[in-house]
Amino acid sequence: MIQKKELLNEMKNSKALKSLAVFGKKRFYNIYHRARLIKTEFPSEIWIENTNCCNASCVMCPREKHTRAQGFMDFSLFEKLAKEISHFGNIVKRVHLHNYGEPLLDRDLARRIRTAKDCGIKHTYIVTTASLLTVAKSKEIIEAGLDEMKISFYGTDQKTYNDTMVGLDFYKTLTNVADFFKTRKKIGKKNPRVVLQYLPTDSNKSKTEDFFRILKPLIEEEVGDCFNIFELHNYGSGRSYVKLGDITRICHFPWRTMVILHDGKAVLCSPDYNGLQVVGDTNTNTIKEIWNGNKYKKVRQDFKKLEYQNYSVCKECTAVRETMYPKINR
Ligand code: SF4
Ligand code: SF4
Repeated sequence: MIQKKELLNEMKNSKALKSLAVFGKKRFYNIYHRARLIKTEFPSEIWIENTNCCNASCVMCPREKHTRAQGFMDFSLFEKLAKEISHFGNIVKRVHLHNYGEPLLDRDLARRIRTAKDCGIKHTYIVTTASLLTVAKSKEIIEAGLDEMKISFYGTDQKTYNDTMVGLDFYKTLTNVADFFKTRKKIGKKNPRVVLQYLPTDSNKSKTEDFFRILKPLIEEEVGDCFNIFELHNYGSGRSYVKLGDITRICHFPWRTMVILHDGKAVLCSPDYNGLQVVGDTNTNTIKEIWNGNKYKKVRQDFKKLEYQNYSVCKECTAVRETMYPKINR
């Protein structure tokens, strides 16, 4: 007589049952998400890539596969975008002033922040390694009115830091971070609020508590500073940390976010580091025209049907697939 345990094992290994489970999950997930996909007349989050140049070679980032031209966004194009965004203050929740690069390499960063704030953009945001965050740079961005800054800080000593953030210096960056908080206090400002982010990997995951211990004395929780623990992803198809399962999900980016590269091209998201999935050009069209245009319409139709085969980055992306995180080599 077949035992209960064996029966359960058989059920677990049955291809038909597995397919049924995936089908059920897919249906449930997509019914829930379809209901939440509301298209507004303008994106609620916009990323404006001030530069795609970078002074680091982080291991989890496919910089070596980054083949598009590197440069900085023309200030006049930036101004045009900021002005347009300012008309949709009721929709736009956050404007990233960075994308695939180190934003502090841009000499015009403070000027861009000030322009965005003068236009009335409510929430400006950057993500940086802080490797170039000198006291002078800190003053500039604080006084320009930056609202939020995430600092990616992936180590607790020279070794663990350099295993991940190749090309940067642990002690220099730590000094920059400490000086930033002192500078903000000295100026008497509460902006930008800071998110300190850690990425546990094989070499540093045992040091997560050290990360909090080293950095906690620096932050001011009362102004909103906090910590974030990040998880590795595949950067589109740039890396292979995460094993990919079936396509089961609708990616919500085309209902929420537009990424504008430094040359003005609009793409679907940040993991598209080579700008392969272009949906428009802000040199010739407005953000609103692109967002409501035929290319975006087609993307939304395809995504709703889970049809990603014509999107070279999406079809390999963790956002739309069942994922299995490996236990090693992260
Ligand atoms: S993750 Fe950011 S800082 Fe690191 S190499 Fe990539 S673009 Fe540069
Ligand atoms: S599926 Fe992935 S690559 Fe495609 S738009 Fe969404 S996040 Fe970007």
